[in-house]
Amino acid sequence: MSVSSPCEICNRADVDHVCDRCVQLVCSRHFDEDVGLCIECAAAIEDESQPQNIPNSDDMPDGVDTYRY
Ligand SMILES: [Zn+2]
Ligand SMILES: [Zn+2]
Repeated sequence: MSVSSPCEICNRADVDHVCDRCVQLVCSRHFDEDVGLCIECAAAIEDESQPQNIPNSDDMPDGVDTYRY
């Protein structure tokens, strides 16, 4: 099981890790060891784990008639 492909992010030939999520080969610079994923997936799951960033239906003007007097 020889790894000869270059890092798929920077194209350098020193691949040290395989991303658990997208299975792309990345070098140590583009691998986030905290999460065990490439930096792209690490950024992606960080986005997903921040529900504050997702606008909820609180601000939506469509269904306000439940609060009408
Ligand atoms: Zn790289
Ligand atoms: Zn990845």
